[in-house]
Amino acid sequence: MAIDRRGFLKASAAQAAIVGFGATASAKRHPGAAPVTRGVNPFAHGVASGDPQSDRVILWTRVSPIADRLGEPVETHWWIARDSLGLEVVAGGTVDALPGSDYTVKVDASGLEPNTDYHYGFLTETGLSPIGRTRTLPAGDAEHVRMAFASCANYPNGFFNAYACLAERDDVDVVLHLGDYLYEYGNGEYGDGTSLDRIPDPVHEMVTLEDYRRRHASYKSDPDLRAAHARHPWITIWDDHETANNSHPSGAENHDPSLEGDWETRKLAGIRAYYEWMPIRELPTGLFRSFRFGGLVDLIMLDTRLHGRDPEAPPKDTAAASDPKRTLLGEDQKDWLFGELADSHDVGTAWRVIGQQIMVAPVSFDGVDFNPDSWNGYRASRARVLDHLEAEGIDNVVFLTGDVHSSWVFEVPAPSDAEEDYDPVTSAGSRAVEFVAPAVSSPPLGVAEGWQARPQQILARTPHLKYANFEDQGFVILDVTRDRVRAEYVYTDSAKVRSRRSRCAATFETRSGTNRVERVEPDRCEV
Ligand code: FE
Ligand code: CA
Repeated sequence: MAIDRRGFLKASAAQAAIVGFGATASAKRHPGAAPVTRGVNPFAHGVASGDPQSDRVILWTRVSPIADRLGEPVETHWWIARDSLGLEVVAGGTVDALPGSDYTVKVDASGLEPNTDYHYGFLTETGLSPIGRTRTLPAGDAEHVRMAFASCANYPNGFFNAYACLAERDDVDVVLHLGDYLYEYGNGEYGDGTSLDRIPDPVHEMVTLEDYRRRHASYKSDPDLRAAHARHPWITIWDDHETANNSHPSGAENHDPSLEGDWETRKLAGIRAYYEWMPIRELPTGLFRSFRFGGLVDLIMLDTRLHGRDPEAPPKDTAAASDPKRTLLGEDQKDWLFGELADSHDVGTAWRVIGQQIMVAPVSFDGVDFNPDSWNGYRASRARVLDHLEAEGIDNVVFLTGDVHSSWVFEVPAPSDAEEDYDPVTSAGSRAVEFVAPAVSSPPLGVAEGWQARPQQILARTPHLKYANFEDQGFVILDVTRDRVRAEYVYTDSAKVRSRRSRCAATFETRSGTNRVERVEPDRCEV
């Protein structure tokens, strides 16, 4: 075994905070994923790291409890080292895995060096975890950052080929997940895993805390997902399906209180399981948070879903969609966002990247309607953000988006109701750019009947749209230097067949100070 026990003792005094869940070890019957018998790998759900800063990172694992010791804490050692053998340990300690947090373990390992690779692992009486690799954020004069971003991984609908590809890449500093990390449905309701041997657990729709925990465990039974977590630090936000379809603070399209009980209880169960099972730092303010990559990038992650969002506007109701009283972010998150943008601008950070769930740019899929579950359904909120950028002279803003199972590249004109101010030739009137990632494995938009010709139709009537692909699955890599940001669209083989092949299909570039995006040759993907 490649662990120096003295390393633990030496490091046990090192700076490390155990992340609590406000839960205690009380449950007699364990309400989460199945326990194991002695001799079975106690780290079946792998390891993960996340929310890196320049001096710290969250380390995560889940310890499968032993069947005859259910309800008891499991003493778990952890360490983080400069090398994969765990010889140069820089911090470590011991933490109890508790039934109150579904035996998940989170540690905020601090005292680390910026822009540095680390390796970490966990050890219990019954076994050693896989060894994860992670990386801290740069500080000071960062010159180059590469962040992958992805969304929408439906387990029964297909294999996680995008995660398999990400797990093999050495050229990514961090993976962003923009939501729909898992889906709430029962098998066959949205994706049928029967023929692929990917039936999710539980087989029915997740509603209770036990359901949500078991579904997280089911997703992390996927080896490609585990490999991608073990290879890179992730920064994640939820979208709707981590609770239920088209959710908002007071309800969801896919929640029927008369059959499924109180929404607040269900929402809190989904949120609790997410915090337990994801390598995320828990902040008193909620999910929205920011990350500074030296002077190069300020990454701002928003919660457009469960924090302050008003219920959706009715279909076709443009008056409701434009109602200035309706909000997508909530007042406090909007104020926080404005403060983050102003601070980033004032300190001279080169780029402001906003990772969030739903499409920002004005667009109609059919030329008539709008998607009320996007910023197009919250136009006053969008105008407030884009007007703030204009009023404060803040440019170099890049929105990253998931949710729609398709790839789009936009310049973002504003306000949306005065698109005549936008000139597609010069890009005058554009206030930001937006890159929308395809799905990992959820059904692409283009599989729907009659949707094959849609991208060309939408491109023809949407001058600020520069690219649309409704066919492919994969992920995007954002390559950032001071002078420009490039988005490399990387497509995988269809999720219906397990594969680790990928191709760089299209690359787009926005140059500093332009709010303009142009296609560059695919061979400029920096693979
Ligand atoms: Fe989705
Ligand atoms: Ca979604």
